[in-house]
Amino acid sequence: MTSQNQSEICVSKEGEKMSKGEKREAVNIVESKEWYLADYAPQGVPTSDHLKLRSVPLSLALDSIPQAHVAIQLLFISIDPYLRTRMSGHDDGLYFPQFLLNQVITAFGIGRVIRSKDDKYIEGDIVLNAFFPVAEYCVVPSDVLIRKIDPAAGVPLPEYLSCLGVPGFAAWLGIQVLGDPKPGSNVFISAAAGGVGMFAGQLAKLKGCRVIGSTGSDDKVRLLMEEFGYDDAFNYNKETDLDAALSKYFPNGIDIYLENVGGKMLEAVLNHVNLHARIPVCGMISQYNQTWTEREGVRNLLNVVGKEVRMEGYLVASYLDRFADFAKEMESYIKQGKIRSKLKMYPGIESFADSIGSLFSSSNIGKVIIQVKP
Ligand code: NAP
Repeated sequence: MTSQNQSEICVSKEGEKMSKGEKREAVNIVESKEWYLADYAPQGVPTSDHLKLRSVPLSLALDSIPQAHVAIQLLFISIDPYLRTRMSGHDDGLYFPQFLLNQVITAFGIGRVIRSKDDKYIEGDIVLNAFFPVAEYCVVPSDVLIRKIDPAAGVPLPEYLSCLGVPGFAAWLGIQVLGDPKPGSNVFISAAAGGVGMFAGQLAKLKGCRVIGSTGSDDKVRLLMEEFGYDDAFNYNKETDLDAALSKYFPNGIDIYLENVGGKMLEAVLNHVNLHARIPVCGMISQYNQTWTEREGVRNLLNVVGKEVRMEGYLVASYLDRFADFAKEMESYIKQGKIRSKLKMYPGIESFADSIGSLFSSSNIGKVIIQVKP
């Protein structure tokens, strides 16, 4: 066993068990693996040419940790499509700024406090942060931590990145806040078996809507109907004519379209919207790997006027004042067994580049998460 492995194992155990007076010397320095961006990827899926893993020494000695900081062992990292938009090298003023080259990448994550220089946190606390480094360990200011998680609440930790995290919140905002669903509303959801889509469909069903989803494989079509309660679903990769497909699935038109993919799907939807339809625009993942001049245009935007459609982009970060309402409702649904969740867990910090690439295929089902140390 190398000294690197020894120190990592000591820290991992120590975060849970080390008692006062035990020797700390063995764990004062760890080699922490972390991901950084070596080059921007203006087009295409980022690869190992852009995303690189390195190992850096990190001091966990208590006197090296500044006041009001905590040392964290990362447990789970959320893999979200917006991360890709921070790797293009083009600051378009949207979302977040570009990641800096050679700096560690950050993402939503869950970690365990292993050293604390803040009275509000003790060793063993499980904490959530929107901008944890994609790394095994880190030292961060304690005021960036969003909240502590109570493991006794009985919710599996990764679900705080899924049904009780950004995807669940984005789904709830899109359907319940912006979608204004009514019993019998005709609802269409794209990327329906993904992190946002699986919850959006279930929330719309709970409001009594008729819900149809699109996704990229037959297995996922089956899952939408059998596990997530969608009324119907189709594989967009098999539909040569999206317009015709929507005619078939929505003979009475679309009242709410939760937009996750953009491009050709949005254009097809606009030919089927009812008067006063709502289109909450959550994202447009089919367009993230192109520069804006290469992206698909939408030729029938005029339909938004004629059908008086309310099409509205939104970001979860702008609705934090609604998070408590969302969490209360979602927790209640979970306790009652009314919401199901699927996780696609990638093992090990090493899997970060693969997990980012996977967002642009149809290989995942549910919310994509890395378990830092499986
Ligand atoms: P996700 O669905 O878990 O993963 C992405 C999925 O998109 C893939 O599994 C794939 O599923 C589908 N996809 C990939 N490339 C595609 C393409 N070219 N055409 C059609 N579908 C494609 O991701 P998510 O976290 O739930 O995010 C869904 C959308 O919500 C994204 O646009 C994301 O940016 C957005 N989002 C926005 C906010 C916000 O605050 N506004 C928050 C979270 C997420 P298929 O099998 O269906 O192809």
